[in-house]
Order: sequence, then structure tokens, then C-alpha cells
Amino acid sequence: MLNKTGLAVSPGIAIGKAVILDSEEYQIPKRSISPSLCDSEVQRAHHAFEMAIAELAALEAEYQASDSSEIHDLFSVHRHFLQDQSLRDRVTQRIHQDCVTAEYAASSVLQELHSHFAKVPNRYISERAADVRDIEKRLLRHLIDLKKETLGHLTEEMVVVARELRPTQTAAFDKQFVKGIVCDTGGVTSHASIVARAMGIPAVMALHDLTETVRRGDMLIVDGNSGTVIVNPSAETIARFRETQAAMVALQASFSVLKEQPAMTQDGVDISLMANIEFPRESGAVLDAGAQGIGLFRTEFLYLQSGKEPTEEDHYTAYVQVVKTLNGRPVTIRTMDLGADKFTQSHRFTREDNPFLGLRSIRFSLMHRDMFVAQLRAILRASTQGPVKLMFPLISGVREIQLAREILASVKADLDRTGQGYDTDMPVGIMIEVPSAAVMAACFARYVDFFSIGSNDLTQYALAVDRGNAQVADLFSSFDPGVLRLIQMTVDGAATTGIDVSVCGEMASEPAFVMLLLGMGVRSLSVVPSLIPEVKRIIRSVSMAQCRDLVETVFLMDSVSEIDEYVQQKIRSVSLQKLGDM
Ligand code: PEP
Ligand code: MG
Repeated sequence: MLNKTGLAVSPGIAIGKAVILDSEEYQIPKRSISPSLCDSEVQRAHHAFEMAIAELAALEAEYQASDSSEIHDLFSVHRHFLQDQSLRDRVTQRIHQDCVTAEYAASSVLQELHSHFAKVPNRYISERAADVRDIEKRLLRHLIDLKKETLGHLTEEMVVVARELRPTQTAAFDKQFVKGIVCDTGGVTSHASIVARAMGIPAVMALHDLTETVRRGDMLIVDGNSGTVIVNPSAETIARFRETQAAMVALQASFSVLKEQPAMTQDGVDISLMANIEFPRESGAVLDAGAQGIGLFRTEFLYLQSGKEPTEEDHYTAYVQVVKTLNGRPVTIRTMDLGADKFTQSHRFTREDNPFLGLRSIRFSLMHRDMFVAQLRAILRASTQGPVKLMFPLISGVREIQLAREILASVKADLDRTGQGYDTDMPVGIMIEVPSAAVMAACFARYVDFFSIGSNDLTQYALAVDRGNAQVADLFSSFDPGVLRLIQMTVDGAATTGIDVSVCGEMASEPAFVMLLLGMGVRSLSVVPSLIPEVKRIIRSVSMAQCRDLVETVFLMDSVSEIDEYVQQKIRSVSLQKLGDM
């Protein structure tokens, strides 16, 4: 039994066998084959060896010419390794002896070598383990390019173990079989984590080297509440976690009493509690959770889920489905936030050294006007079916608001020409996620109808901490006094023209932040549907006077740890005091 601790990013407990998903989406299941197929599998294996050797020889030649002799030598070592006849013989033998596929044989032989190297007490030799892993991946790429395996083949409940997860991969998981997610990299607000939460799959990220220790088929417990992963637990531990799982289901059921109750503080201040969704199919859960509407519909998943760009009709169908299900409640549709960690297969993306600071989000939309127009037309057309609000992400300057609004105006004019209806009063807002926007909030408030604070990006850009990088995850904190001041500036800026301001980043769903946000003057929160009851419980437990006092004290503090500790302790005492009142 082995315990590992990472970041708890999606609550709940999952118990199941591990399925390893490497970063290139290849899963190597142990698949028995008929003995008559062994020869052709051996041929496939040999072909992959040849391809990998040729590829390495080409890389060697490329680096021969340059000054990078170390790189050249590395490729040369890898090539010699693959040319070693005894390695090839072991793979051939494995295929014949165990009647398994070429990829399984190659992967298992190389994994054995990897463990062997890793255990050698000589540092020089143990470091070669990483080379073996590299060689394994190269070989597998050639094999699996010929015969690709994905998680689409899962037929039993599993826990996905990955070195790295892209949001697209996560969104494609089948919830019926993927019961938990654990990952070496990632952070609480990385998009893969957001998707895991939206799908209600317990997940723990930033486990650093878990993939080095877990093998396919190992039993895992994923505790998405505490951030713990237990590898090959004892029967008693499994029984204990099953009990906790059942207790959590019961707690969730007890929240249902809150559904019909208003999100109102003890002293009668109404808070608008909205939901964030990524997929139209979540709209039902929004209503079940008792949300007043949708504060953030992340539309990127329309692009990421399929291999092709969505048409205007694809957009329209998705939006109308959500608007109709919400039945008169407002739906805030955010235009595409592509780029950074959300890429499509489209040729429109080129490699960037700093994609989070590059052609992302509204910048991408303004550069690809045809895609942007298709989305705007669909949003406008959907606004005839119910209250729709339009929101532009990642605004950093007034010029972007003006350009986006100009395009919107020309789309409206086109619809007018063809006699297609839309809500002429559709509110237009922006996300405040770049520090410059927070600082300029009082000015931006003259150009739009509402603000929504994207605290995930605002924190990332204010602190210069990549929200998905496990190595700096402990530096990512929205409790940072600088971040809190940017939020306060946004709220105050909005007040100068009286526009609404809400918070839709993950901060809004953390009980510890709820009191702070209310105290700073935020009156609307938008959170993942599953956390609405918990946030509502906190809102109903506090008074505005308590929240303002909290903010006053916190604004005198200098450090994240001091603020974090103080706010957590305050929220604990409020939660305990009021638990009995529910
Ligand atoms: C945010 O940045 O806080 C936000 C809500 O947008 P996203 O998480 O989709 O980047
Ligand atoms: Mg954002």
C-alpha cells in the first residue's frame, strides 16, 4: 500500500483499477491474440524497431551538423539500444510465449528494463531509466500509429492515470467507465481539472511521479476531497473509503432541502447564485442544483469535442438547447476562449513559445473573424428563445471591446437585412481576467453592461504563475493580497456606472472565498453546479456585516498564509455555528 498526496481538484471518492493513459493518448491494454497471429505481430514489432532506428539516425545526422554534440550522442545511444539484437529477441519471445500484441510486448519488456535501471544504486545508471522510457514511447508511437488504442475501448470502471491531461482528452472520457482521474501535472484551475469537476469525476492532480509507480491494473483509491491517492490499498482501507463514499452520497441528498431556499444572507441580502457549464448536457444539473441561471457557458468544448470546426448551426443548436432548458432563466454565453491549453486540430493554430500570453481567447476571435461571426450569429439568433447575455473573455484593453462590439454590430446589421430576429437589448459584458482590465475597471465599465471576474486567469496573470503547472502550484493562490485588491478595484470600478459584477472563476466555489467576495461587494457568484448547495449554505449562514469585517481585517494583512489561515478559521466557525440551523 502506498499513499501519495497531490492537489484535490474534483471532489468525491473513486475506487477502481488503474488504466494508464500516457500523454499521447495511447493505452496499451494486455490483449491476448491467437497463436496464428504471433508471426504478424513479430513483424509489426520489427517494423517499428526499424522505423524508430531510422528516425533516430536522421536526428543524429541533423545534430551532427550542429554544435549540439550532447544531443547527437543521446540519439546515438538510443539508436544503439534499439539495434541491440537481445532486446528485439526479448520482444519476439514475449509475443510468442504470452500470445500478446506487439505494442504490449514492447511496452512490458521496456517497462521491466526501466524498473531494473531505476533500482540500480549507481546514479549514472539509474538516470538511464528515463532514456528507456523515451525509447519505449518512440517505439510505441510507431506501433500505435499503425494500430491506435484509446480509452474508447473501456468496458469496466477504471481510474485514469496520466502524466499530463488535456481538457479535450478529459472531456472525451466516458463517465460510465472513468470513475476517477489522477495526474502527475496540473493545478486546481487548469482546464482539465475544471472539466473533471464539471463531469463530476473525482480527481487529484500534481502528483509529480505517480505514473512512475502505478502499473496498469493496480487498485487505486482517489480521494478528491483531501487530494490523496492510495495505491493497492488493503481490504480494510477499501471498506473504510466505501463507507465515506456512502456518507457523501447521503450528505449530497441532504443538500436537496436547500434547492428551493433563496441564496440570502442572514441579514436579508439576496445573492444571485448561478452555474458554470461546459457542455449543453449539464443544463439539467443546473436546474436540479437550484441555480438562478447560467453565469458562464464555456463554449470552447463545441470546438474541442469534434475534429472539425462547429458550424453556425452547431452553435445555434447547442445554445438553443441550453436556453430552452433554462426556461426563462438567464444564460451567459462566453465567446470562444481558444488557445493557451485549449487547442483544436485546426491549421489555424501555430506553435507559440508562450501560448498563455499569445493568440488566445478574444485575440484569436478577432484574428479569425469568420469563426467569430459564426458564433455571434448563433448567439444572437438563440437570444430570441430566452434571456441570453453575451460575454467576451480575456479583455485587456478598450480597443478589444470596441473591435468586438463593431463586429457584433455588423453581425446584427446582417441579421436585420435578412429579417432574422434577435434580442436587440441583449446585454454585453466582459471577463476581467487580465490585471490591466481590473486596474482600468472604472473606465471599461462605460463600455459594457456587466463584468464577470475570471479569477483563475486573473490570479495566473497577476502572480505570473501558470495555472496548470504542478511545479509552481503552491504559488497559485487567489488569497494573495494583490489578487484581492484587483478584485476590489473591479467591484469599485463597476460601481462607478452601476453595472453588475459577478465572479465565475473557481474562487467563487470555494467556501473560504465566499465571505470575502461578498464582503468586497460581489453580489453574484457563478460556480460548477455540484457545488451550488455548499455555496448556498455558506451564503445563508453569514451576515453581510461579518463579511465586511472579514475583508477589513484581511486588507490589513500582508501574506497569503496569514490571510488563508484567518479566512479558513472564520469560515469554519461560521459553518459550525450554522450547521444546526439547516
Ligand atoms: C477564469 O479564468 O477564471 C475563467 C472563469 O475562465 P477559464 O477558467 O475558462 O479560463
Ligand atoms: Mg479564463
